[in-house]
Amino acid sequence: MSTTNSTASSVKERADLALNDEFLRNAVRFTTERLRGGKMKAAEEHGNWDEWRERGRQIRLHTIAHLDYYLNLFADNARANGVHVHFADTSADAVKIALAIAERKSAKSVVKSKSMVTEELHLNHALESIGIEAIESDLGEYIIQLAGETPSHIIIPAIHKNRYQIADLLSKEAGETLPPDTSILAGFVRKKLREKFLETEIGMTGCNFAIAETGSMVLFENEGNARMVTTVPKTQITLMGMERIIPSWTDLEVMATLLPRSATGQKLTVYMSGITGPRREHDADGPDEMHMIIVDNGRSLQLGDPEFQELLNCIRCGACLNACPVYRHIGGHAYGGTYSGPIGAVLTPALKKNVAEWDDIANASSLCGACYEACPVKIPLHDMLVSLRRRKVESGHGNKLEAVGMKGFSAVMGNSGRFKGMLKLAKIGQKLVVQSGDIRTKLGPLKGWNSYRVTPSLPKKSFRDGWGTLEAELRQGLKELDPEVRQRMETIVKERKSGGGHEHG
Ligand code: SF4
Repeated sequence: MSTTNSTASSVKERADLALNDEFLRNAVRFTTERLRGGKMKAAEEHGNWDEWRERGRQIRLHTIAHLDYYLNLFADNARANGVHVHFADTSADAVKIALAIAERKSAKSVVKSKSMVTEELHLNHALESIGIEAIESDLGEYIIQLAGETPSHIIIPAIHKNRYQIADLLSKEAGETLPPDTSILAGFVRKKLREKFLETEIGMTGCNFAIAETGSMVLFENEGNARMVTTVPKTQITLMGMERIIPSWTDLEVMATLLPRSATGQKLTVYMSGITGPRREHDADGPDEMHMIIVDNGRSLQLGDPEFQELLNCIRCGACLNACPVYRHIGGHAYGGTYSGPIGAVLTPALKKNVAEWDDIANASSLCGACYEACPVKIPLHDMLVSLRRRKVESGHGNKLEAVGMKGFSAVMGNSGRFKGMLKLAKIGQKLVVQSGDIRTKLGPLKGWNSYRVTPSLPKKSFRDGWGTLEAELRQGLKELDPEVRQRMETIVKERKSGGGHEHG
């Protein structure tokens, strides 16, 4: 069973469905492990990976700090190259511009390469609502389009499907049974799409990076479909989130080092296309007309926000998804928005500035920081998740019961006497629910936790109780140490005792 078309309304409901979908879990686990392993190997082989991450971060910080300057520089240069540049404040504006171009061209269809921003705008739906067929040409996007679903990963849209499910989908399209053999399945899609490329009026792409100094756009891909999309149709429309700009081709060298390695573990993407304007007189191919739609849609809300501006540094590599223990268990659809995983959990509420509606996805995180470690431009997503939670409480949307509980917790943990008293009570109280040394009840807040694991009971002798013995053992050990080292350690202990230590359990 697939959970992807679920009408479940909360993250918890969608996560429960995903956890019970064995196909989905196996497929997501298999691919994320492969991607994560590939990335780790590529980073290790590269050598000074952290240094490059820092270089990437500095480029993104600088660009976003001067975003208006670089956007204007890009727009001026792109216009000088013959590109029609449009700025869209909202999702509706971007869709309106794209539809107007398609209608002016009397287009019956649009062939697309993979683009998360068009997913964000629900552009396929809008095109189809006015009778224009939207054809996805990226293999993963094509598969989920046939399935009537949305991408569940930034770079591997059909990550939640295995080859047997894909063979079933493509067999329906082919009108005959296709074997679950990846080369046969890819061959079928290739043939099918070739016909579409030749008959379609408009090619539509996203944009990995826009180069301000020359007004160029750069696309990274592995299948060659984006190159077809940008060379065969007579008109090209590119949609780009306003943050996807970098100052120069020199900066692209750093990004081209970070992006493929972080995304798939590849040293270099198979195809990297740099496009500077429509076809010129002597060019063999390329579009006669080219449009670039630069989309804001909530991005500028992050500018000047000290907690969230770094979100705009994201290069959409997907590494944080592959590293996240939550994403690896529930896949992308459980997050409920266009973007999933740790970046989606922050970006979705941030783009809408609607903490109340999307608050629960900020809770779908263990705050382990694996996303930060994986991120090639060092975006502190774990800190942002905490900020989102805090903003939810500050905006009055917090859970009242939880607030009372946290106050009580703070009162107990902040006072040694209360802590000891509470511990004594808990040891007595737990006798009602302990079985074979573990707390197995599913009552109250332990329900969710104990549904998938057991909680160890409080031991008869706590760490604090045993501290006296341990301290004596340590003192004995100290006596046997070199006198100089002992002297230093005793000084540290004295300092701690005279006021450095906190008064809690
Ligand atoms: S937040 Fe970092 S790791 Fe996640 S998609 Fe963006 S750049 Fe990649």
